[in-house]
Amino acid sequence: MSTIAQNLQAVDATIVAAANAAGRSRADVQLLAVSKTFPPEAVVEAFHAGQRAFGENYLQEAIDKKAAVASALPGAALEWHFIGPIQSNKTRPIAANFEWVHTVERLKIAQRLSEQRPDGLPPLNICLQVNISGEASKSGASPGELDDLAREVAALPKLRLRGLMAIPEPERDYARQRAAFARLRGHFERLRADGFDLDTLSMGMSADMEAAVAEGATIVRVGSAIFGSRNYE
Ligand SMILES: *Cc1c(COP(=O)(O)O)cnc(C)c1O
Repeated sequence: MSTIAQNLQAVDATIVAAANAAGRSRADVQLLAVSKTFPPEAVVEAFHAGQRAFGENYLQEAIDKKAAVASALPGAALEWHFIGPIQSNKTRPIAANFEWVHTVERLKIAQRLSEQRPDGLPPLNICLQVNISGEASKSGASPGELDDLAREVAALPKLRLRGLMAIPEPERDYARQRAAFARLRGHFERLRADGFDLDTLSMGMSADMEAAVAEGATIVRVGSAIFGSRNYE
């Protein structure tokens, strides 16, 4: 078995254990393999080990990789998620090349993604990125602007608002990891109670996926635990 296949098994076992401990089902947690900085061959290897959903942060790298993977795996059904910062002049290729975008933090970007989503493709699945670390992080909508943003994004025709995403400040302590994810879950539950039809909490990475699963993550975004450490970013 390849290293990537072994790592995928180990990550799966971690998710299973965290889900069981929380009284949740493994099937309710999707593993998104974050392949940024890794070559198309790594994606192909993960595909052969059963992985289907891949996350990318850098647009041009992602487009090149998608093309290389498509020619190595003709007809294979992979699902691509954009999880990097979005510049407004890059929305058109993002709208055309991905099934999911996790990092929408302002209305203007959402409007452009909706306008530019090609006809004939299903609605683009959207998570709103929330800043749950306050001053410590500059990315994400502030909790105070979240409700308005959710209402406006949910009304856009070619988007489907699925849920919330966050990247908390790195934290080694398990209880503190959970506290950050619990804040995101609190916003998620509040929006659902307000009538938003949300089913996705995108939270947890290699170093904190157990805490995220314990707090209700439905997508964990895992890179280095699958593909190894990154040499550059
Ligand atoms: C890189 C990245 C990940 C994966 O991080 P690892 O620590 O390698 O698991 C997850 N989410 C986002 C938004 C990322 O940029």
